[in-house]
Order: sequence, then structure tokens, then C-alpha cells
Amino acid sequence: MKSEKYRVLVPDAQYVDDAEIERNLASKWVDYDIRRVRHASSIPNEDWGSYDALHVWHEVPIDKSLVAKLDRCRIIVRCGVGYDHIDLEAAGHAGIPVCNTPDYGTSEVADHAMGLMLTLVRGIGTLHRELTQDPVGNYVTARTPPLMRRIRGTQLGVIGLGRIGTATALRAQAFGMNVCAYDPYQPRGVEIALGVERVDSMVKVLESCPIVSLHVPLTTETHGMIDDKAMKKMSPNSILINTARGGIVDLDALYDALYQQQLGAAALDVLPEEPPDGTHPLIVAFKNQPEWLKDRLILTPHSAWNSPESRHDARAKSTETLLAMLLRNELRNCVNLEYLTIQRHNSP
Ligand code: NAD
Repeated sequence: MKSEKYRVLVPDAQYVDDAEIERNLASKWVDYDIRRVRHASSIPNEDWGSYDALHVWHEVPIDKSLVAKLDRCRIIVRCGVGYDHIDLEAAGHAGIPVCNTPDYGTSEVADHAMGLMLTLVRGIGTLHRELTQDPVGNYVTARTPPLMRRIRGTQLGVIGLGRIGTATALRAQAFGMNVCAYDPYQPRGVEIALGVERVDSMVKVLESCPIVSLHVPLTTETHGMIDDKAMKKMSPNSILINTARGGIVDLDALYDALYQQQLGAAALDVLPEEPPDGTHPLIVAFKNQPEWLKDRLILTPHSAWNSPESRHDARAKSTETLLAMLLRNELRNCVNLEYLTIQRHNSP
């Protein structure tokens, strides 16, 4: 082990404290530099080259030009699951493993997906809004909001049957739903273990399921995969739920589908741009709540993962991954192995 401490940069810390959890676990070996920037350019070039590791959130894109500045970096640890803002190939070719934290907020995101669905199909959003306007006059027990339906026996389409997709499928089954899943990368037989129907094309899910929940990573393949063609396959009263990544759903197409009543409703925890572009027609409409959109679009601010417990787990587990590499050269949850042709060993 080195005699001096390792230097670790958190460029975009998403917590208000002074890295209490990280320092508690690692300060014996690590000197943390905690910043809260949104652009790499806010940190001087020479600083980037001085860190033994990066412990990153999701605000600062780690692109090829930034990777080229990481002269000493032995590992990039993502405090979270998605790593679509990191150039995995560039990091791998530079000998820097990128590791994520897959084991922190799975249940929260699955709960959130179910929560979004329940809000729509139980009409909770609509009924709540109406009562806030007139708790006495609108107190009509037989009022049936347009998207309300029986959950038991309804078909839920899950696109991406990984950790969160599976957790969502299990929850849906507990509600008596029939789950239909599309995930070409899961081994055959998973569907039997989970008791879901497996289909070999996304279109089949879109055509046959009145509620579809997205759980794929954002990749070149999934980017914009729910476009106007995909939405036209869905039935007019159907519901689209996205807690995965904003770039998977084409926002222009979603606007058109909702406006033209091709789609019943959408519930999005994630958007292609975050915070959103306030001039996008869908965001403008969401803000103004015209009659045609009322209760048909739910937005939450990329918060599906969040709970005090999940926040703690993400920070503690990602710190453990960081220490495993710095102290023992042990690689955990590496997501760029295919590009990792060399590996840096700076300083035993
Ligand atoms: P995971 O890697 O466990 O599962 C993803 C699944 O998608 C895998 O089974 C994979 O085979 C499948 N897949 C990949 N490409 C596909 C394709 N083209 N078609 C169908 N299936 C495909 O990931 P996870 O932990 O379950 O995360 C799922 C998503 O949730 C990711 O996009 C992640 O970034 C996102 N996420 C969001 C939040 C939030 O707060 N909203 C938090 C955590 C994760």
C-alpha cells in the first residue's frame, strides 16, 4: 500500500454533507476532493490528471477528451447504475476500469414504476387534483377517471428483464397481473423461473400489453427505441412507464401520441435532458396542463432511485468498490471489461 493517501475526486457530488459516508469508510486511505460542478471545464485540466480515482455521479459527462486527461486514474466508480454518460471504450483503452453500483436502488425503482402505474390506473392523480379544487362538490364516490381499470388480470409488458425489470415483474404478479417480457439478452429459462411470458420482439409487447414499463439501459440500440412507430403499435388507452433512461423514449413522438390520443398516458421519471428543456412542446404542455393532457402525463424528477436507505447504500457500496481496487487491486462490477486491454497498476 502507498504511504501517502490516494487522491479521489468526486466532481458532481449529489449530497449536501461533506462526504460523511465516504470519509467514514475511506479516510484512512483516501483524501477526498468533493466538488459539485456540472461541466468538466469547471475543474482545471491539471487537476484532472492528479487523481488516483474518480467517484462520479451522473452530472459530468466523462467523454474521450476528459479520459485523456486522467493521467493517474486507476478506476472510475459510478455511484449508481446507469453509465451512459461515460465513454466506456475510451476509458478501457486508457486502462481505466469503469465500475457501477448495481445493488442499491433496485427495489425503489421497481416500487416507483408500480407507483406511477397505480397513480394512473387507480385514478389517484385525477381524484386528488379534483378534490384539491373542491373537496366538497367534487366528492363523488362513483366518479371513474378515464384511465381507471382493474389491475388483476391486466397484462404488463416489461421491456428489459434485468434487476429492476424482474423486481417490477414480481411486484406486478403480486397484484395479479400477467407479465409479458422482452429481453433478448437474458438466458432462456428465466421466464420459467419468474413465471412470465417471454416474447421475442418488442412489437409483440407493445401490441399486446395495455401497460408497458421500460427497464433497459440507454445504449446505441435502445436510444429512441420507443419512437413514433413503436407508439403506433400501442393501443389508444395504453400506458407507457419509463423509469429507465430518458433517451429511450422519443419525446417529440410522445407529444404527438398523447396529443393525437394514440396513447392513453405516460409516466416518466427520466427525460432525455435533465433538467428538461423548458421550451419542448411536451414540457410546455405539462406546465400549462391543457385539457387534452390533463392527468395523462406524470413526471417525477429522476427520483425513482431515491430513499435515505438507497442513497446510503449507493454511497457506501460504491466506496467499497473504490477501495477494493485501490487497496487490493480487486475489480468489482466492471462494465467496460470488453475494452480493458491494459490495466493501470500505479502504486502498490
Ligand atoms: P440491468 O442491467 O440489470 O437490466 C437491464 C436489462 O435490459 C438486461 O437484462 C438487458 O439484457 C436488457 N436489455 C439490454 N438491451 C436491451 C434491448 N435492446 N431490448 C430489451 N432488453 C434489453 O439494469 P437495471 O439495474 O435493471 O436498470 C434498468 C434501467 O434502470 C437502466 O436504464 C438504469 O439506468 C435505470 N435506472 C434508473 C434509475 C432511476 O432513478 N430512474 C435508478 C437506477 C437505474
